Amino acid sequence: MFAKIIIDQDAKALDKVFEYIVPDNLDIVVGMRVYVPFGSRVLQGFVIGLDEHCEYDESKLKKIISKIDDFPAIKEEMLALMQFMAKKNHLKLASILRLFLPSEMREGKVKELFETYYTLNDKNESKIQKNAKKQLEIVDFLTNNGGRASSSQLSQYGYGAIKALTEKGILIKEKIEVKRKPFVLSTQSKRVVLNSSQKNAVNTITENKTYLLNGVTGSGKTEVYMHLIERALSQGKNAIMLVPEISLTPQIMSNFKARFGDAVALLHSGLSAGERFDEWKRLFSGEARIAIGARSAIFAPIENLGMIIIDEEHEQSYISESNPRFDTHDVAQFRARYNGCPLVLGSATPSIESYEKAKQGQYQLVELPVRANGRELPKIQIIDMMSEIRTGNSGIFSNQLLADLANVINHKKQAMLFINRRGYSSFQRCRDCGYIAKCLDCDVSLVYHREDNRLKCHYCGKQYKVLDRCPKCGSENIKQGAVGTEQVVSKLKEYFPDVKVLRMDNDTTSTKNAHQKILSEFRNSLPGILVGTQMIAKGHDFENVVLVGIIDADQSLYQADYRSTERTFQLITQVSGRAGRSEDEGKVVLQTYSPRHYVYKFASNYDYKGFFRKEENIRQTSQFPPFTRILRILFSDHDENYVRELLKVCYTEIEKLKEQYGDEIIYLDAMKSPIKRIQNKYRYQIMMRLKLDKADEIEEKVFEIVDNASKTSVFFEINPQNLS
Ligand code: ADP
Ligand code: ZN
Ligand code: ZN
Repeated sequence: MFAKIIIDQDAKALDKVFEYIVPDNLDIVVGMRVYVPFGSRVLQGFVIGLDEHCEYDESKLKKIISKIDDFPAIKEEMLALMQFMAKKNHLKLASILRLFLPSEMREGKVKELFETYYTLNDKNESKIQKNAKKQLEIVDFLTNNGGRASSSQLSQYGYGAIKALTEKGILIKEKIEVKRKPFVLSTQSKRVVLNSSQKNAVNTITENKTYLLNGVTGSGKTEVYMHLIERALSQGKNAIMLVPEISLTPQIMSNFKARFGDAVALLHSGLSAGERFDEWKRLFSGEARIAIGARSAIFAPIENLGMIIIDEEHEQSYISESNPRFDTHDVAQFRARYNGCPLVLGSATPSIESYEKAKQGQYQLVELPVRANGRELPKIQIIDMMSEIRTGNSGIFSNQLLADLANVINHKKQAMLFINRRGYSSFQRCRDCGYIAKCLDCDVSLVYHREDNRLKCHYCGKQYKVLDRCPKCGSENIKQGAVGTEQVVSKLKEYFPDVKVLRMDNDTTSTKNAHQKILSEFRNSLPGILVGTQMIAKGHDFENVVLVGIIDADQSLYQADYRSTERTFQLITQVSGRAGRSEDEGKVVLQTYSPRHYVYKFASNYDYKGFFRKEENIRQTSQFPPFTRILRILFSDHDENYVRELLKVCYTEIEKLKEQYGDEIIYLDAMKSPIKRIQNKYRYQIMMRLKLDKADEIEEKVFEIVDNASKTSVFFEINPQNLS
């Protein structure tokens, strides 16, 4: 027997299928991980096929050394998915297979956890000497505790006693695998009666196709998801539900645990390696039937899927920006079609791309037009910060926001303030010569963090001393840039010294379970104010939040990216959705320096359809996705000359395509990336914009050109989210 094997190395030269002999004494099946000899080394590999015949000279083939696991870690569906992704995203096979396994498992860093257990086998106490008190106590303890206990539970009686009982046959010693379970807050499952739109959604979503579930914030999408999953389970099938990492709130997790118990497995970045491995194994074995997690949970080893859900489908985090780069939507679509089940894309603010697909009939649109509690959406008041400045208020907070905050505090209620920048202020700049402090490795400006009085690079984490004088001209006249979360908190404390103010951003949530601590502290603070970045925008359901303040709405608007308006609309809608979720009416104060921008008009009226039409029109006339396709080819290396040469070679070849394809290539240019260096790697790129009808064909040719020219990896991105 011969095995086709992919070597588990992320190297371009090894990106092909190798053949090995299967020794007679190894029962290898497709999907198993194995050790193989490779040159003078022993490497890990994946068996992706078995054959009676080999395609090469048999005498030159080597033998598989041994199995790594005794089960096939890669299931058949995942092998098909690997082929699909390799073609779609032009990725290396090994780099795709790596996505399918917990990384610690590949590195051999986690194993099943076994604990020693003792079971009471024989209660015949006459075998025990009368003075062996400890032994009698153990028998008593086990009799009263279900007849079985772990060695740590029994350790108080001493190992000698345990051993004596085991030797007499009174206890039986066994090693039992124990699963490490992620911590989840416990809560009661509350049952609600679905309203008519929810019922309609559940009854509609039955077929093997993609549904776009467009429901306003608070419309009860989660309840719909639960019903859909429940139905899949009752049909003997399984489910995957994806939520963005930042909205994997303790609340969502505990609600699902409360409803589905141990059938739920959680996969998210807050788990320890052991927990992640055990949750993965529970899914693999079929013990757990619902995978809930962030992006990577789409690769959960579940068979027989009956439902796949992507909540907040418009979220950027569904597109992986590090390697391998892929779009979760494509993977979900593949798995749904493979299993013949519905795929549900849920959002209050679908991406323009998805809504366009619904409009053209590729997705079926299902709507939840009202809030489940029957309440109006909170009123959004737009505050013109330029006019605040003209009337003498140059602070962070408008007079309106301060008055509303005071009101919330008087009524012992809660407010959330959203500012999408962590740290104290965005940069330090010399007022006299214009010098800006930048990271030496990354060519981006540094962010001032007052708490530890340091400047930090948000790309590589490097820290620097703060500027007290300009290193260039010596001036001491240093200006702080735009406001960040830390500064909002410190200013709030000046205005409201007695009120509990909490902060949630990457800096305050880096330790395990820090999220949960902050959120539960906030829940118990009346009055209380939570200041945060994107992390507070999604998913949270706090009944006492009656006010939401958006400190600087323009922040996401003026970025050189065709999706920045769309993103701004989405953020405003999401953040606003946090207010007024129960009895009390909610309100939103939106501060902007450009109050007349169309995005604010549509967002403040919750007019998604109006916004979509406007944006669709702009994209169509300016020839941007979804009406065209953007392809970015990113070259990066420590050696600047090498990347520049490579760029030049590729560009020259691609220009020839332009001659051949003419207008089909709307735009083609080569340039330095906007961030010219990250972690000391120089970054250059080729940008292309393609008409849709020939896009696949042109893409293929571009892949080929770049592959032939480059000895290292180059990154391809289709409609990239982030152009930095
Ligand atoms: P969304 O995810 O659409 O923003 P949620 O799923 O968080 O909305 O639901 C908002 C609130 O409405 C939750 O507290 C939920 O328990 C409640 N809810 C959902 N469906 C119903 C219903 N049919 N009747 C009453 N309350 C409901
Ligand atoms: Zn200066
Ligand atoms: Zn840096």
